[in-house]
Amino acid sequence: MLIGTPSEQTEKRAGGGAAREGFAAKPGVAAHRQSHIVWVLRSIGGWFDNKVVGPAANPDAAEDFRVDWYRILPFMAMHLACVAVIWVGWSPIAVGAAFAMYVIRMFFVTGFYHRYFSHRTFKTSRVGQFLFAVAGNSAVQRGPLWWAAHHRHHHRVSDQEDDRHSALQHGFFWSHVGWITSKKNFATNLDAVKDLAKFPELRFLNRFDNVVPVLLGVSMFLLGVALEGWAPSWETSGFQMLIWGFFISTVAVAHATFSINSLTHMVGSKRYKSTDESRNNFLLALLTLGEGWHNNHHYYPGAARQGFYWWEIDITYYMLRVLSAVGLIWDLNAVPPHVRDANHLA
Ligand SMILES: [Zn+2]
Ligand SMILES: [Zn+2]
Repeated sequence: MLIGTPSEQTEKRAGGGAAREGFAAKPGVAAHRQSHIVWVLRSIGGWFDNKVVGPAANPDAAEDFRVDWYRILPFMAMHLACVAVIWVGWSPIAVGAAFAMYVIRMFFVTGFYHRYFSHRTFKTSRVGQFLFAVAGNSAVQRGPLWWAAHHRHHHRVSDQEDDRHSALQHGFFWSHVGWITSKKNFATNLDAVKDLAKFPELRFLNRFDNVVPVLLGVSMFLLGVALEGWAPSWETSGFQMLIWGFFISTVAVAHATFSINSLTHMVGSKRYKSTDESRNNFLLALLTLGEGWHNNHHYYPGAARQGFYWWEIDITYYMLRVLSAVGLIWDLNAVPPHVRDANHLA
């Protein structure tokens, strides 16, 4: 029978001879400590440079489902920072900034991280592509290649065992926030996004994916400081603008986005016959500017619109139409009517 800590047991299994000589436990503990320190350093390094974490760049190779607590300290701190609203208070300008930053950045996530980078449902220039990637990156949902690679994988194996955020397979909590905080899912599988990874500027942004968020947070703070001096009657401050305009709106965008991974595979109605549990959900479509039409989207992911009928409100699509009208993007893919009207469940 093996007695001792798990690492001591491993040591005994691996090197029985050494264990009999009575000094097996110490090297086992030392090795464990050493690998723990390496993990901590790599995780903290990942705050600044993604390349430090997951050299294989292939999440399929890593089977570690544990939460990377050190890596997600900034993510947790972001949530904790929202509590500071108790001390900074509120003002119409700060709450307005939070709302505006929510809508704008939700649009950049849905319109570009999702409908452009993940699904290529329309075209833009190389400069436009980079600027929209920066805009999407400001929502603090990691880099465009990471986002698109994981999302394409989700569509390939939706609600099957290998789906990284299937509520059906792994439950609500894992599908909402567990998968995104686990060691397994920090690396970017570049093979899944070869069409995007060929652009060095996108690889750079993906590697240093916290630069844009930090710059945005600092800008919000400085805007508050400036307003305090220029327009004292607005009664805001640097910290108030930082908490509302950056932290609260970022956390709200994050959880609204996560709800598409979790809730739209659980709650809502199904229009199309599909092999997964994707649903259409009006409330989530409003909150996420159109992404709640998730059953539509899984049925035909190649369309720039996800509300397939006029009554299915899809604000992202309306905004994409505006960008198309002014020439910043073009060739928006439509859903063919014969495809849209076929395969209905009832
Ligand atoms: Zn889905
Ligand atoms: Zn999708």
